[in-house]
Amino acid sequence: MEIFTEEFESFILFQELENILIDNRKKLAELELKKLNLNEIYKSKVEELNIKNEALKKKMIEKKEIENELMTVEAEISKYQIQLNQVKKNDEFKAMLSQIETLKLKKDDIENRIIEIIDMVDNLSKEINDIKNNISEYERVKKAEEDSIDMKKTAIELNIKEILDKQNDVLNNIKDQATKIKVDNIMVKKDRLAIAKVKAKINEAHKAKNEDYFCSACNMKLTSEEASSVRKAKTFIICQNCSRLLYLEGIEYDRTKK
Ligand SMILES: [Zn+2]
Repeated sequence: MEIFTEEFESFILFQELENILIDNRKKLAELELKKLNLNEIYKSKVEELNIKNEALKKKMIEKKEIENELMTVEAEISKYQIQLNQVKKNDEFKAMLSQIETLKLKKDDIENRIIEIIDMVDNLSKEINDIKNNISEYERVKKAEEDSIDMKKTAIELNIKEILDKQNDVLNNIKDQATKIKVDNIMVKKDRLAIAKVKAKINEAHKAKNEDYFCSACNMKLTSEEASSVRKAKTFIICQNCSRLLYLEGIEYDRTKK
């Protein structure tokens, strides 16, 4: 199906402006995503810091508890040592001595645990320090990137506004209402791409190396009749597969045909 319109060029311009808008909106979405990613990374770093801080807090409490345990055992040892001097019977003396030995072993064990915990606390503190440094460095990077993203966004938004104004001008000057409505309907249904170029590929199989034509939006091959229609001046054809308006770019129109 052919659509002849005097405002052929305006419709193409309208779509080209729309393509720039599509492209710009895609760029805006990508920038927005970049910002989200920056925040996600930041959040995960803070989360990591919180987990390490929590672990450190637990270790400090554990250390305090074991230190208390140590004090209790030490007090018991001194108590028994005082009692040891007052014991008269040999059996009691031996029993008490062995109790003191057991307590001393317990004390050694506790002291080893304290050393282990101090090591853990040291490592955790070092890790926390590293994470904090990393976070403040990342805050600087993040801020710089966000500023740059915002600048890009502002420029794109400005560009979108200008293109929209231009596009409105083009649209308001088009008098061919029938084609205008058609284009508008396709735009709504087909992701804002209503008018597409025809792409040509040399068909090597033909002796004359004829060109085959395809819809650049859906890749449907044009029939020879459609290929001839699309060469006519100011004429779109409708893609049988995707319903978009197709045109051939940059050809010498055969003005005798219409
Ligand atoms: Zn198509």
